[in-house]
Amino acid sequence: MRFDILTIFPKMMYGYLREGVIGREVTKGTIEVYFHDIRKYSTDKHKKVDHTPFGGGAGMVMTPQPIYDCIQAVKKKNKGPVVYMSPKGKVLTHSMAQRLGRYDGMILLCGRYEGIDQRVLDMCVDMEISIGKYVLSGGELPAMVVLDTVTRLLPDALGNENSAEEDSFSEKLNGKKEYPHYTKPREFMGISVPEVLLNGNHAEIDAWRRKQLK
Ligand code: SAM
Repeated sequence: MRFDILTIFPKMMYGYLREGVIGREVTKGTIEVYFHDIRKYSTDKHKKVDHTPFGGGAGMVMTPQPIYDCIQAVKKKNKGPVVYMSPKGKVLTHSMAQRLGRYDGMILLCGRYEGIDQRVLDMCVDMEISIGKYVLSGGELPAMVVLDTVTRLLPDALGNENSAEEDSFSEKLNGKKEYPHYTKPREFMGISVPEVLLNGNHAEIDAWRRKQLK
């Protein structure tokens, strides 16, 4: 799956793509990720990408031209939906991430400042996604949240040892939150692991775990 991320801070998230599960999926080729610097598309002689809002008010607004041109260029390579990361969007869920994973790619647009001129959103954006009911300073972290959760649900991702099939919100857990985990040592600061997990009886362990789902 191909992710194109449109931002004025294209270097901000490189580290995240090199490490851990996502780093491995990038190396395996399950996903391809490209960052695009919106500023490079600005026709302004100072490469400006923001301006004061019409009607007054605090802060700056991202201008439509660089974003429009950047989206048009990226669309030649990525036929997936254009997604604007926005606190006003639909809040991301497990099932939404599953649906997004059916596309061959997606274009994630990251805002900054007070947001983006509405005209370019109306013209180019297919959906708006929020990662929660709070406001961050930019869409870069939200874009990585979408990328991460969509990637780990892709059929080729993770492998058996790390399967997402039994994670919280999955079908296997009926959309519920997962049971608690314990590992070595058996006793930590006087607190023991629940006895049932030590007896080797898998039917009992499964029953105990099912009971813990919330
Ligand atoms: N003025 C906007 C408002 O009140 O809705 C907030 C703009 S925010 C400071 C700048 C950018 O961060 C947004 O354009 C968006 O791309 C991103 N952003 C902030 N919070 C977000 C969230 N909860 N989910 C997704 N994107 C978010």
